[in-house]
Amino acid sequence: MAIHYRTQAFILKKTDLREADQVFTIYTKDFGKLKILGKAIRKIKSKLRAGVELFYLSEIEFIQGKNHKTLTDAMAIEKFKNIREDLDKLETASQIAENADELIKGEEKDEDIWNLLREVFDKINNYSLIYYYFLWNLLSILGYQIDLYHCIGCQKKLGPGKLYFNPEEGAIVCSVCFEGSVDKEICPEVIKILRLFLKKDWNILLRLKIQDSHKKALETISLDFLKELRYD
Ligand SMILES: [Zn+2]
Repeated sequence: MAIHYRTQAFILKKTDLREADQVFTIYTKDFGKLKILGKAIRKIKSKLRAGVELFYLSEIEFIQGKNHKTLTDAMAIEKFKNIREDLDKLETASQIAENADELIKGEEKDEDIWNLLREVFDKINNYSLIYYYFLWNLLSILGYQIDLYHCIGCQKKLGPGKLYFNPEEGAIVCSVCFEGSVDKEICPEVIKILRLFLKKDWNILLRLKIQDSHKKALETISLDFLKELRYD
C-alpha cells in the first residue's frame, strides 16, 4: 500500500494536462516545493478541485508513485478571497508564485521560506511593496545575501555620496569603485528600504512613505538582479 503524506501547502501554480489532469506546483510546510498531479481534477465531479485553487493555503494529502506524486485529498484552510477580488493583488500573488517557482530549487523542507510565504500572503492586503519584501527576503534565505552596509569594492562603510547597485555581483558599489556600464545608481532611501525588508521591521515599514520614484527604483534593481540570476 502506498504511504499517504499529509501537509499544508500554498498552491502556487497549476497547469492543465491532457484528460482533465492538472499538475500543481505547491510549496509545502514539510517537504518544500513539490509538483503534484491532480488526476481527473478538471472533471466536474472531482472532489479535490475545491481544495486546490490558486493561492489557497490548503491541507493536502498525496501518495508518492514511481514517477510522480498524486494528490489524494485537499481541503482549503485559507482561501485569501481578497486576492482574487482585486487585480493588483492577483498580479502581486502571481509574481510571488512565479519567483518562488523559479528560484526555489529542489524538494527540501525550509521553515524560513514557509514562514515567509505565510507572512506575505497574510500581508498582501496591507502593504504595497509586499512583492519586493518577498523577493529580497527569499533571495537572502536562498543565499544571495547582499551587503547593504559596505561597498563590495573597497569594503568601506557606505557613506554619503552616490551609490550604485551592481546586479552581476548583487552588491552595492561606492562612487570611487564605480566602474560604469552595469552599475546603476541607487538612492540611499532604496538601500534603507532593502535594509528594513531584511530586518523585517514592520513597525517602520508600514509607516514609511514610499515615493513613486523609489518604487520604480526597487522595480528596476529587482528586475536587473533577477535577470543576472537567470543567466547564471
Ligand atoms: Zn568602494
